[in-house]
Amino acid sequence: MARVVILGAGVSGHTAALRLRRMLGRRGGHEVVVVSPNANWNWIPSNIWVGVGQMPREKVVFPLAPVYERTGVEFHQARAVALRPEGDEESPQGAVDVEYTDPARAGEVERLRFDFLVNATGPKLNFAATPGLGPEGNSLSVCTADHAVEAAEALRATIQRLKDGRPQTLVIGVGHGMCTCEGAAFEYAFNVEHQIREAGVRDLAEVIYLTNERELGDFGVGGMTFEQQGFVTTSALWTASIFRERGVNAILGAHVQRVEDGVIHYEQLDGSVHEQAFDFAMLLPPFRGQELRAYDRAGEDVTETVFAPNGFMRVDADYTQKPYEEWRAEDWPTTYESPAYPNLFAVGIAFAPPHAISRPGASPSGTVIAPAPPRTGMPSGIMGRTVAATIADRIRTGTTAAHTASMARMGAGCIASAGTGMLSGSAAGMTMYPVVPDHARFPESGRDLRHTKGELGLAGHWTKVLLHHLFIYKAKARPMWWLIPE
Ligand SMILES: Cc1cc2nc3c(=O)[nH]c(=O)nc-3n(C[C@H](O)[C@H](O)[C@H](O)COP(=O)(O)OP(=O)(O)OC[C@H]3O[C@@H](n4cnc5c(N)ncnc54)[C@H](O)[C@@H]3O)c2cc1C
Repeated sequence: MARVVILGAGVSGHTAALRLRRMLGRRGGHEVVVVSPNANWNWIPSNIWVGVGQMPREKVVFPLAPVYERTGVEFHQARAVALRPEGDEESPQGAVDVEYTDPARAGEVERLRFDFLVNATGPKLNFAATPGLGPEGNSLSVCTADHAVEAAEALRATIQRLKDGRPQTLVIGVGHGMCTCEGAAFEYAFNVEHQIREAGVRDLAEVIYLTNERELGDFGVGGMTFEQQGFVTTSALWTASIFRERGVNAILGAHVQRVEDGVIHYEQLDGSVHEQAFDFAMLLPPFRGQELRAYDRAGEDVTETVFAPNGFMRVDADYTQKPYEEWRAEDWPTTYESPAYPNLFAVGIAFAPPHAISRPGASPSGTVIAPAPPRTGMPSGIMGRTVAATIADRIRTGTTAAHTASMARMGAGCIASAGTGMLSGSAAGMTMYPVVPDHARFPESGRDLRHTKGELGLAGHWTKVLLHHLFIYKAKARPMWWLIPE
């Protein structure tokens, strides 16, 4: 009988747990355990609509415990704090120390045993990297459902001031030179612009998109080249036309130094330093790994072996430091297994990428302004499913082989909402293959032009709404959920 502990119940961890439970079946007595600090599951992509007041919080969250009870997954509402992959003085079986956040056991500490552990703890929202950034400082966020509710309230007040005839400046983007998730900032900017237009007060509002991307349409993946109606175009051109059409101004290649009450201070790639006044600012934080320590059997701290300095877990990637020109598709991990401990895996945002995807930049004073690589929902879910398949095989057959899913061999689809409404909504639908460009296989642009596409329109909005319902249905493990792909 084997015991698998999955840390995190977000896109990758929840996928891994449900898929593994199904792959192992109930008969062998194998246990699938999920440890996660939140009682609820959150469909994060739809936080954008909560953040403009167009979707209630209840539509994007639901309690995890009943789903796990029904599917036979043991759930601990707790936060993992330390990994002991070799076990401890009592037993050589792996263990993880957890601290309960469940109100019934709040603050209690327990050591849970495992044969395999999947770290799917996602990002720590690192607001502290920029002074004054975030809901506890001077800007807003939409990273959690609660943050999004707060942002919607602030937007409502901003729209009211516009209706009272007071011009307003709204700044939306990323709050540090090394942020990722520019796609989410883009979506929120255009949803806000749409809301203001629908409210009939667009002429009094200035909407600014502030980003670390060196050009529009980079999205942290180095931009995309598509074929459209027989012509080759780029996401830079395509995105710039959306900005022009909707009157959204952009500040590019920016690192936010600090956010004061009503003023953003930022430096750009050319070294110039500026101030931007605002009445409303939503700036995403940079991400780092969760605060997890690791110990060997003797209790020696091996955190630096297991985790990279940014807190993400090292897996089977090539972490050799090298210049952008030498980056290769093969640097990216395929199995997500820890090179130090074969009973540890990391998936989704929790694994340490070998390097960025977009070409990194720095200002003359040395400030790094470099979008971090996005690990969006689709690749995160695929990694969760892949690692579940590896662990299921190892438990059932004792093999040491692994299933593989490299981001340099994987396609991804992403639909960036540009405004909600069944008739007035729009979204930018993008597909790319592969996510990490492979210049050896696709010398032209690093990606296959046949499978890299972008399209803006109402159909994209309907698809985004459909995906919202499909993914929540699947996460609730409703009948036949497993037929819905990641
Ligand atoms: C505003 C926004 C909009 C987005 N929109 C899109 C989109 O449209 N399409 C798309 O593909 N992607 C989108 N993304 C990205 C998408 O949300 C991520 O790719 C995805 O959530 C990553 O999955 P994950 O499992 O790695 O992390 P998460 O989904 O963040 O899950 C992490 C889990 O770990 C838990 N956890 C944290 N600390 C611990 C701990 N110490 N111990 C145990 N558990 C812990 C958390 O509570 C959570 O359950 C968006 C992101 C944001 C912020």
